[in-house]
Amino acid sequence: MPELAEVEFFRKQWNLGLQRKILQVDLHAEKRVFRGVSVNLARKRMIGQTLLSSHAHGKQMLFRVGPRGWLGIHLGMTGKLTTQPGRYLARAHDHLILRTADHSLVFSDPRLFGRIRFHDSRNPPDWWSQLPPAILSPAFDGQRLRDICLRYRKTPIKSLLLRQECFPGIGNWMADEILWQTRLHPKALGGALSPLQIQNLYFSIRKIGREAMRSIGKDWSDPPRSWLFLHRWKPGGTCPRCHRCLARDSVGGRTTSWCAACQPPLPRRAKSA
Ligand SMILES: [Zn+2]
Repeated sequence: MPELAEVEFFRKQWNLGLQRKILQVDLHAEKRVFRGVSVNLARKRMIGQTLLSSHAHGKQMLFRVGPRGWLGIHLGMTGKLTTQPGRYLARAHDHLILRTADHSLVFSDPRLFGRIRFHDSRNPPDWWSQLPPAILSPAFDGQRLRDICLRYRKTPIKSLLLRQECFPGIGNWMADEILWQTRLHPKALGGALSPLQIQNLYFSIRKIGREAMRSIGKDWSDPPRSWLFLHRWKPGGTCPRCHRCLARDSVGGRTTSWCAACQPPLPRRAKSA
C-alpha cells in the first residue's frame, strides 16, 4: 500500500503533464473509485484546462486543473499514477486518463480501493485544507507527539502510528521501521512511553520520513540496507542489528514484524502516587 514516500513518487509521475492543456478525459464512471463524484461535471470542467500544479500530503494528492478545478487522488491499496505516450491504449484497470497533446496521464487501480474526487471552486476543497500537520512539517513538533501519546494512552503504539489523523502518510512498513529503529515493542501503549522514548520516537519518525523521501520518493530506490525494510518479509528474515529471527504477529489488525530482542515489551511502570 503506498505510504508517504510512494505517494510522493507517484505524484511526480504526472509532472510531464504540468502546464499542458488537457484535451480529453477518459474515465470509468461506474467504478467505485469515483463514488460521490459528478463525473460528467468533472470531465467537462477539466477538458480545455491546464494542469497547473500537483501536491502530496501524507497519502493524499491534489492536482490543480485550471483556475477552479481540483482533482483529489488517493491511491488506496493498489493505485498507481503513470505517464504514457499520447496515443496510449487504455487497459482494463486504467480508470482515469487525462490526455494532453503529447502524454496520457493515467490512474490505474486493479483492486479499486483508491478514490478520485473533484472540487469545482477557486479554493482548495475542505478535506484538503483540514488535513493534519504533515510529519515532516515544522507544525509536527515534539509537543504534538507528546499530546498524541497522552490522548491515545491506551492504544498500542503500532496502531497509533497508523492513525492518519495523527501521522498522515505513515503506513505499515514505516510504522514497523520506526518502532524497530526506536527499539519499541509494537504493543507498548502510547501512555507507557517515557519522555525519552517519545523524544526518540519523534527523531525516528522525522529521520525515516526524510530518508524514505530521498530514496523511494525520489526514484523508487531502496532505503538503506541497514533498515528493517529489506528484511521484514524475507522467509526466515533476521534482524539487521542483532541477527536474531524476526517476530511476526497481527497488531491492531495489521501484520507486524519486529525483533523480540531489540524491542522487548516495556516493563510495567510503577503507578505514581
Ligand atoms: Zn534485533
